[in-house]
Amino acid sequence: MARYKDANCKLCRREGQKLFLKGSRCYSDKCALDRRPYAPGQHGQNMRRKISEYGLQLREKQKVRRIYGILEKQFRNYFKKAERARGITGENLLAMLECRLDNVVYRLGFAPSRKSARQLVLHRHFSVNGGTVNIPSYGLKPKDIVKVRERSSNLDIIHEALKSSGRGTDINWLRLDKAKLEGELLEIPHREDIPVDVQEQLIVELYSK
Ligand code: SF4
Repeated sequence: MARYKDANCKLCRREGQKLFLKGSRCYSDKCALDRRPYAPGQHGQNMRRKISEYGLQLREKQKVRRIYGILEKQFRNYFKKAERARGITGENLLAMLECRLDNVVYRLGFAPSRKSARQLVLHRHFSVNGGTVNIPSYGLKPKDIVKVRERSSNLDIIHEALKSSGRGTDINWLRLDKAKLEGELLEIPHREDIPVDVQEQLIVELYSK
C-alpha cells in the first residue's frame, strides 16, 4: 500500500503549522517547526507570502490529509461519502476521519502518534468488539469497543503512550478504561469536539469547483 515515507516534520514546515505527527517530540524543544519556522527546501525561506484563494483551499486540504495520514485518492472517497451523508459536508468529513480505527487508537492514548497507531493496528494488536482488526481505516460506529489484544497487553509502547498522553479522559465522545486497556466510541463526534485546527469549508469549496 502506498504511504508517505519522507520526513514528517517537513510536512508541518510546509504547512507552517504544527500537525503533531511525531508524538512527544512535537511538545518538546526538538520540534523542527519551532527551530526552523519556514518551508523546507532551498527556497523555503524566500517563499512568496501572498497566496491565492485556490492556494488557501489546497493547503487546507493537504493539511487535513497529512494530519490523518491519508493519500489523495482515499481522501476523495471520504469526501464523496461525506457529501452523500446528511448534514454539513465538511463536518461529516472530519467526523469520518476521526472514527477511523487508527485515529481512535491514537485519541484513546494507546499510541503516541497516528502513524504509530496505524502500525500497531496493522500488526494486529487491537480487536474491535472481540474480533481482531488490522485495517487502520476501519470505520468505527457508536458502541464499538476497541481493545488491546491479550497477547499485546504487555507492549511497552502502549503503556508508555498511555502514561504520557492523559488522552481519552478529556474527549467526551470516547470512553477509556485504562485498567482493561479498552475504549468505546460513545457517539459520532460533533465539530466542536474535534480538536483539529482546520477550516474544512475551504476543502468543500475546493472539491466543489
Ligand atoms: Fe511537526 Fe511534530 Fe515535527 Fe514539530 S516535531 S515539526 S509538530 S511533526
